[in-house]
Amino acid sequence: MKFFKKQEEEQQSLLAEELGRKIAASGMPDHVRKVALEELEAIARISPSSAEYTIGITYVDYLITLPWDKKTEDNLDLCRAERILNEDHFGLMRTKERILEHLAVRVLRSKARPRVLIVDDEEIARKNLSHILEKDDYEVVSAEEGGEALTVMEKGEFDVVLTDLKMAGIDGMEVLEKTRMRWPDTKVIMMTGFATVQSAIEAMKRGAFNYIAKPFKLDEVRSTVRTALEKRARIKGGSGSVLCFAGPPGTGKTSVGRSVARALGRAFVRISLAGMKDEAEIRGHRRTYVGAMPGRIIEEIHRAESANPVMMLDELDKIGHDFKGDPSSALLEVLDTEQNAGFVDHYLGVPFDLSQVIFILTANVIDNIPGPLRDRMEVIEFPGYSLEEKAHIAAHFLIPRQIREKGISARTPVFSPEAIEKIIQEYTREAGIRNLERKIASICRKIAKETVGDAGGLSMVTITPAVVGQYLGRRNYEFEVVEEKDRVGVATGLVRTAEGGEIIFVEAAKMKGKKEMILTGSLGDMMRESAQAALSYIRSNAAALGIQDDFFEIHDIHVHVPSGAIQKDGPSAGITMAMALISLLTNRPARRDVAMTGEITLTGRVLPVSGIREKILAARRAGVRTVLLPAKNRAEADELPVTVTRDVAVKFIESIGDAIELVLAKTS
Ligand code: ADP
Repeated sequence: MKFFKKQEEEQQSLLAEELGRKIAASGMPDHVRKVALEELEAIARISPSSAEYTIGITYVDYLITLPWDKKTEDNLDLCRAERILNEDHFGLMRTKERILEHLAVRVLRSKARPRVLIVDDEEIARKNLSHILEKDDYEVVSAEEGGEALTVMEKGEFDVVLTDLKMAGIDGMEVLEKTRMRWPDTKVIMMTGFATVQSAIEAMKRGAFNYIAKPFKLDEVRSTVRTALEKRARIKGGSGSVLCFAGPPGTGKTSVGRSVARALGRAFVRISLAGMKDEAEIRGHRRTYVGAMPGRIIEEIHRAESANPVMMLDELDKIGHDFKGDPSSALLEVLDTEQNAGFVDHYLGVPFDLSQVIFILTANVIDNIPGPLRDRMEVIEFPGYSLEEKAHIAAHFLIPRQIREKGISARTPVFSPEAIEKIIQEYTREAGIRNLERKIASICRKIAKETVGDAGGLSMVTITPAVVGQYLGRRNYEFEVVEEKDRVGVATGLVRTAEGGEIIFVEAAKMKGKKEMILTGSLGDMMRESAQAALSYIRSNAAALGIQDDFFEIHDIHVHVPSGAIQKDGPSAGITMAMALISLLTNRPARRDVAMTGEITLTGRVLPVSGIREKILAARRAGVRTVLLPAKNRAEADELPVTVTRDVAVKFIESIGDAIELVLAKTS
């Protein structure tokens, strides 16, 4: 018994020794090393069979294996980055350009040497300071007194100004004040003799970053300048330095994120925020029980084995509604470059520096993102693709990739352009290309199966529209619009959804009753209000529209929007509601192939709306020929490429009256 106990103790101390060695080699900062060693000491005193022992060992091991100082060196060759983005993605010109601009700023910032200005009337002080700061690789300029300093500063901004307090002419305090006014981000460090500590405090009150007492210690000067620079770098890089890719699913957000990482030579990790319910998922659980875990942020850093990956936080707009704690405050702490250098995960209990991570958020729609978060983000839009773009991406990216992945190169299928178009039009209906890729994968899988079954047949296969039909079965989508007749009381509208754009049909019916308006379908509040506004407009213009005086007294009106699964809301259905109602009440059929969008006012004016591109693409997908847009959206619509507007006639309307002319059949 005693023998076993001794053996156990020996093992325990061997393990402790090994962990001690690993701690020393782990590259963790001093304050973390201290915590790790304390923990190691604490567990040395408890029995290896206890739960605390296991918790302690797991914790120390986790600390050791975190990539404290493991970073990849950025490759800042912009031409290479551009090549990689183009290699992986077709189109997305504006999106790629914005990303390259963002990277360019990063390059410039990292290449620029920090600029430090020394202002002192003693030559020896200037010389000494210049000497040590130049050794730290700063660009150093010196001036003999305040006046000269201000002239030098006019020629180019400085990051840090190190100024003596007492000088002939313009003194340090005035330099401080002028700098604060003209260059508020420049950090001013005041140098004072012992006798003037009081004025040093005064300087701090007036906004100096710090002060150094003379005669100064070299180390103190260097560390104060370094902290000032760090602070300044964070301010400069702070706002808008987090990218947010916004757009419908399958438009390439994840894959562009991956390319950014590849271009920079960084690791890539991805965390989905969708449905996250608890702050602990971001920040971890306290180490009170076996199985307590760090949050996802630290977990992914651990897995990536790099302290500076590109970290994609996916689906920001789908974070759980019942999130415990405030998701935006937890995320703000992660994203804010002023705070995240000291990010504390509950499990770790010690800060981990996240300031080197490049965060990319993604969202389908940015409208629901809390304001404080949105302010920190630089939003880059990922628009939906047109039919032509999809066909090109399918032919040049998706099909070759699926052929490779499914191992059917020996029997390379050739997809005819008509076949690709058929898949896009009849089997998918989306702004992005996720389902398109799935359908292509499904065809390739079938070919793979046939190849295996068919020993001799290594011949090429051609995928024609007929073959597509054979492989994919019944078409999933019809052209709802062109394939049906125009009807009274049904108008075609365009709405924006998280998936991109969609067409809706607003239906109106009348029945005997008492002035009631019934609204059904998955309508949000704003859609309900639009319906009310449309009805009020019609009632107040009944005579002009040729509607009988007492019509509303003896009728109920029912407006319905057949749902689809998605809840739609927004004021932009106003004009469609109005057209369905006017069509009903004047008995003039509404053209089904004219789709419209626009908010309306009670006086019948049509106001501009958002999501024009997505809506036009949705109209084309459904076979619509004419799209009516608010006149105030003209500038935006004119900027759209022809690949988006091809095949549809875009017409602009200012009022409900304009729409009546274009949508309703003439009275016979
Ligand atoms: P998201 O993250 O926006 O939902 P993904 O990045 O997952 O979309 O894209 C879905 C698929 O489509 C991926 O396989 C991606 O490589 C491909 N893809 C998207 N956009 C393009 C494009 N412009 N060129 C080539 N492939 C693309």
